[in-house]
Amino acid sequence: MILYNTLGQKKHEFRTHTEGKVNMYTCGPTVYHYAHIGNLRTYIMEDVLEKFLRYEGYDVNRVMNITDVGHLASDADTGEDKMLKGAKREKKTVLEIADFYTKAFFEDCKKLNIKTPDVVEPATCCIPEFIEMVETLLEKGYAYEAGGNVYFDTSKLDKYYVFGNQTEEDLAVGVRDSVEEDAQKRNKTDFVLWFTKSKFDDQELKWDSPWGNGYPGWHIECSAISIKHGGEYLDLHCGGVDNAFPHHTNEIAQSEAYLGHEWCPHWFHVLHLLDSTGKMSKSKGEFLTVSLLESKGYDPLVYRMFCLQSHYRKPLTFTYESLDNTVVAYNKLVSRIAALDNGGEPDTTAAQEYIDKFKEAVGNDLNTSLGLTCLYDVLKAPVSDATKLFLIADFDKVLSLNLIEAAKALAETKTSAVSDDESAQIEALIAERTQARANKDWATADRIRDELNARGVVLEDTPQGIKWRIEK
Ligand code: AMP
Ligand code: ZN
Repeated sequence: MILYNTLGQKKHEFRTHTEGKVNMYTCGPTVYHYAHIGNLRTYIMEDVLEKFLRYEGYDVNRVMNITDVGHLASDADTGEDKMLKGAKREKKTVLEIADFYTKAFFEDCKKLNIKTPDVVEPATCCIPEFIEMVETLLEKGYAYEAGGNVYFDTSKLDKYYVFGNQTEEDLAVGVRDSVEEDAQKRNKTDFVLWFTKSKFDDQELKWDSPWGNGYPGWHIECSAISIKHGGEYLDLHCGGVDNAFPHHTNEIAQSEAYLGHEWCPHWFHVLHLLDSTGKMSKSKGEFLTVSLLESKGYDPLVYRMFCLQSHYRKPLTFTYESLDNTVVAYNKLVSRIAALDNGGEPDTTAAQEYIDKFKEAVGNDLNTSLGLTCLYDVLKAPVSDATKLFLIADFDKVLSLNLIEAAKALAETKTSAVSDDESAQIEALIAERTQARANKDWATADRIRDELNARGVVLEDTPQGIKWRIEK
């Protein structure tokens, strides 16, 4: 597979440390609120990537954290803990909030056909691992204590800005959220590994540590959880583009300092979902969720298709008009599949050419919209219906749009919408029309055709004879 790598900023062949195996890590949600459909764009694209790697035959081990502590309102380690904010908002404990929104996140994922990663680990379950990592960083001279907190010393690194495209403006990320710079830091880019002192001292969850009672920084979570379950050599690390700096930059700094060697060679970032006012974010107040789309009558899988229609490395603007266009496209696709004859055996030799095209399309930097085009090409292909259905089911292992199930359901509604009586009448009319045509009685044949049309009956000549269905 050819995949763009933010580290090095170019597309190249995706390689792994061990042949045939992928150690993949995904930054999980901060569970202080529902996920918005922007967050879910990132999880959908990561899901397609994982499924495509499996489709290509890789054995994938995918790990994801759940951020239930330490993610402050600003990514620059300042501001109130997001979890605490959520708890105050809903007058619940942090753990109640975490439990509720973790479940809500996986319910949304299920509706969007996003597979649950092989390992899901909440940060609050890994405190000993974080402490061990911070201790090692202190021992190795990469960290220092100041004002009760432990910081990573970025001046100890040869190169801190590994992704190479940060500017002074990016560094102002803390200031943007109207919180002042932390005066304890030796360097502007240093970040907190362990907090014991914060101006928000009502933090609910705290643990004993060699540096006093406190809680971990956000970045250390992902490094420690990934090393715990993925080992010292990671193949692929994913997240939304806002994670690249400072979160992933800090993860790389502390993981490589801790391990003493290169950690993860490939970084995959999904560009943002935008709304009419810019980047979709939870702090904006009103935000779009899967439940909101459902309440407006949208099938969550239509939103999945909406995401697949564009490339993950381009920002995507959400509007209801464009989602409505996807509804039309999805329904048309499903009804074309429903019209296929599901009898007979697929011709797997003939299918191979189409599988190769699909692999080439999606394998070129996860071009999912071209992957969808491959589906339409199959529908037009000079192969049997059984082969078409075989190919559609095969591609859907990656696209996960429930195409076969939706087509079956549609066919069943159509058949069950016709009573036995009506069905017998239609069969009789078709037989009468066939007879009329055999007798070259075109007037009668045309009259019957018009009558069938008026009833919404669509006729199709197949090698097995005339098939009919109702299209209302
Ligand atoms: P959070 O729950 O805030 O930790 O974010 C979960 C994931 O969603 C992270 O990978 C973010 O980078 C990603 N994300 C946040 N906002 C957006 C957005 N508007 N569009 C796409 N991904 C996003
Ligand atoms: Zn992370």
